Amino acid sequence: MENERYQEPEWHDKERKEKFAVKIVKPSNAFNEVKPRPVKKNELPIEELAERILAGERTALAKAITLVESNSEKHFDKARKLLEMLMPQTGNSIRIGISGIPGAGKSTFIEKLGLYLIEQNHKVAVLAVDPSSTITKGSILGDKTRMEKLSQQENAFIRPSPSGGALGGVARKSREIILLYEAAGYDVILVETVGVGQSEITVRTMVDFFLLMMIAGTGDSLQGIKRGILEIADALFFNKAEGENKTKSEIASKEFETALKYFSHPVKNWQPQIFTGSALNGVGIKEFWDTVLKFVEITKTEGYFYENRKKQTVNWVFETIENELKMRFYNNKSIRQLIPQVKDKIINGELLPVNAVELLLRKYFSENQNKD
Ligand code: GDP
Repeated sequence: MENERYQEPEWHDKERKEKFAVKIVKPSNAFNEVKPRPVKKNELPIEELAERILAGERTALAKAITLVESNSEKHFDKARKLLEMLMPQTGNSIRIGISGIPGAGKSTFIEKLGLYLIEQNHKVAVLAVDPSSTITKGSILGDKTRMEKLSQQENAFIRPSPSGGALGGVARKSREIILLYEAAGYDVILVETVGVGQSEITVRTMVDFFLLMMIAGTGDSLQGIKRGILEIADALFFNKAEGENKTKSEIASKEFETALKYFSHPVKNWQPQIFTGSALNGVGIKEFWDTVLKFVEITKTEGYFYENRKKQTVNWVFETIENELKMRFYNNKSIRQLIPQVKDKIINGELLPVNAVELLLRKYFSENQNKD
């Protein structure tokens, strides 16, 4: 029965087939000795899903993303097992974060950069970390048409709008999605986020290189920009530097260059690079990519690249624990039932806030002390 259901995935890349095809254990007969679980329509055994992802199958990748993004407890174990299986085949990419105010030209830039990279034989995957998506249901990358040409490319994968849900934030699963992309053979990962504060910091903790996109002559003046954001940038790109705006962009770029001299970048021998260009016309794209390659080379030589990734992984573990605890707490049935009453009592002055905290936490931990 297992063998009937199992179909060898179609490998898109011969080299990857040789490398990975034998490593994933196909469902064996031993599996049948234990009572086989009925497999729901559309539900692939996890080994098969992993193998299909490694083979570069887009539908398998999309399924896996849905699985890791799921907030339903019944999917957690499967998602964890899948990531565990794929983990050895991850990490082999350049991860780039791109931030900027809405309208700065991020999607236009990503599309042009993506198409350029595909020409250079790269496989490009795009992910949006959208802090507002729980409210607006995805204000960036909301519709694929914004990167129409890129989304039609066989060697590009665009995750349109993250389904973060109300708990834990939309960034919660972004790191797992990056790992899935890498397992599927994407070697450049572009993570887009809107420049509105916390989301840049979150994205910075999951990428190797961080670009801030700006437009001269708007709110992006030296005075207007938050110092913290400049501190995390490895490069700045003044976009829409055409016509009248070209001179403005050049002036702004000089201004920022001077200011950035006073910042100390965590990488020795690296001064944030400043570009003026036009995403629309493809000006500055090649120069930007050359800079990324230079940065990767320098940081790999001096070790920062690897140290940074290790640090990011450790941080991710503890951040995930915080998110998991929060999610389990708020998803707990008794807590969900209790919260409206507790809220009413706080509002009516019948319960002090400190006692409300104690009541809810006690309830949760008394129910869960022997679990997990
Ligand atoms: P995002 O919100 O940062 O993703 O910005 P978009 O990429 O959607 O761009 C917003 C608008 O600016 C769109 O109408 C683009 O066509 C336009 N745009 C983007 N890059 C450029 C550029 O380099 N020059 C000009 N003139 N317009 C651009």
